[in-house]
Amino acid sequence: MAIERTFSIIKPDATARNLTGAVNAIIEKAGLRIVAQKRIRMSREQAETFYAVHKARPFFGELVDFMISAPVVVQVLEGEGAIAKYRDVMGATDPSKAADGTIRKQHAKSIGENSVHGSDAAETAAIEIAQFFSGNEIVG
Ligand code: ATP
Ligand code: MG
Repeated sequence: MAIERTFSIIKPDATARNLTGAVNAIIEKAGLRIVAQKRIRMSREQAETFYAVHKARPFFGELVDFMISAPVVVQVLEGEGAIAKYRDVMGATDPSKAADGTIRKQHAKSIGENSVHGSDAAETAAIEIAQFFSGNEIVG
């Protein structure tokens, strides 16, 4: 399998509970390398752009309000099959349905406040990485 890069966000519910290190430990134990990382406060415009695909969904306003409610940690993860691998490591969107050992099973509070984001495909990974990082900020 090819070496890929995926985009990750440690969401406000996790940074607020001091879980950045705990999440990173699970990521690294899974064999994914954190090749870029920064803690930011997302603007409303950034969050709306990032989740634009969900604009018509009833939870869109709540989702944007949540994403700007506290700092987030944006990351680029690299590894073999990183996109699908990180989705496995994160677990299902709804933590009550997430498998044992996943980040969301261990740490997420609810389907909305679910601790992490990970890109769902190669195309979205490239777009999401480019929204938050310039090339020289990613050091593999
Ligand atoms: P993400 O895109 O954040 O990695 P995902 O791909 O598992 O999560 P999506 O369907 O893309 O899930 O939903 C994006 C985000 O919107 C979810 O992670 C969650 O924070 C929020 N969300 C999804 N469904 C609901 C819902 N029914 N109620 C509230 N928030 C929701
Ligand atoms: Mg998604």
